[in-house]
Amino acid sequence: MNVLIVGGGPSGVSAGLWLLKKGIKPILFEKRTFPRDKLCGGLITPKGREELSLLNISYNHIAFEPPYINISDGADLNLRFKNDIGIQLIKREQFDDLLIDEYVKRGGILKENQEITDINTEKKYIINAQGQEYFYDVLVIGEGAGGRLRKRLNQTKLQNALCLEHKKKDEFSCDDEKSINVYFLDDKPGYAWRFENRDETVTGIGSLLDYTDLKNKFNNIFGEAGKLKGAFVPYGIQPSQSNIQDVYFVGDAGGYVNSLLGEGISYGIASGRALVDIIVNKDNSLDCVLRKNLRFYLSLRNLFFSKSLSKLNINLLKKYEEFAIFICKEFILRSDFSVYGYKKLLQHFWRYKIGR
Ligand SMILES: Cc1cc2nc3c(=O)[nH]c(=O)nc-3n(C[C@H](O)[C@H](O)[C@H](O)COP(=O)(O)OP(=O)(O)OC[C@H]3O[C@@H](n4cnc5c(N)ncnc54)[C@H](O)[C@@H]3O)c2cc1C
Repeated sequence: MNVLIVGGGPSGVSAGLWLLKKGIKPILFEKRTFPRDKLCGGLITPKGREELSLLNISYNHIAFEPPYINISDGADLNLRFKNDIGIQLIKREQFDDLLIDEYVKRGGILKENQEITDINTEKKYIINAQGQEYFYDVLVIGEGAGGRLRKRLNQTKLQNALCLEHKKKDEFSCDDEKSINVYFLDDKPGYAWRFENRDETVTGIGSLLDYTDLKNKFNNIFGEAGKLKGAFVPYGIQPSQSNIQDVYFVGDAGGYVNSLLGEGISYGIASGRALVDIIVNKDNSLDCVLRKNLRFYLSLRNLFFSKSLSKLNINLLKKYEEFAIFICKEFILRSDFSVYGYKKLLQHFWRYKIGR
């Protein structure tokens, strides 16, 4: 089977690695050259670690686990707890380089500096910027948010949130005091973050706001930060597959992002695994579980940020702090919802009520 992949981010590479595992040697096209930077907070939940361990990839040597997590609404809600669930921070340049290295080491073909500019779905070929044509049996599109092929194929436009980010070298010197800080916006879905990595601090904000409003919010929370860089992330949509035969989406290109956290690294990697199961085994059950999981986060987001409920939610979280921390850890940061999770939540709530 001749499989072509467009995009060398976590989702495209994951699809490539899973294909190699199944004995298929794909060709991956990336418009840039590695190592290449990518605007990103670099937060990885345990879900990401699990996905990569299925691929026998360890990235612990390039990850940092800040000891604390703070979640706040920027005003009176302030939850602080120990990071005992293994939330990590990575730098995308290193992380993506490590993944692509593994892909090449395991036999994957990489064509760097090759932007795919067009596609012919009838004759089944793609065209790069130099005008060369490559034929496919199956095409995997992992071009990230707002890519050109999705548009070219007239697929439903995904709702993208604008994110602004600023990186600063080593703001806090003591690793023992470092934390992951999340500031939920109470009037719009989205949040701001300050992630204190080993030698750099990343501050950012993402929401369905325009540039000026977003920048003002960023400045209100963090103060003026100098130059802010911007990029999009799919936010608040159900992931969907293409309706074109033998053309598939992975990662941001298909909307595989947790709508509450904007977390896309782990889900991108998971979507690569799910897709290869569809291609090789004609089995979409993994993809269904993944979408169900993401649907849950979308409903959680709608519940949390709905205009009428957000103030009430914040007050409730303030009042039931222990329970709120449990929800943050188990449901939001572990980032992998299941029926088992629901049961655990109910049990915990029940115990908590009786305990009082
Ligand atoms: C500011 C910001 C902060 C974020 N923070 C986090 C976070 O902390 N944790 C988290 O989990 N997620 C975060 N995300 C989301 C995360 O970055 C994405 O979900 C993730 O990168 C998706 O991976 P992907 O492989 O689908 O796409 P990408 O990582 O975007 O990779 C797409 C690749 O395709 C290449 N490409 C695009 N078009 C073409 C073409 N036509 N031809 C050839 N190559 C092409 C690009 O150069 C790129 O290398 C953040 C996003 C933003 C914008």
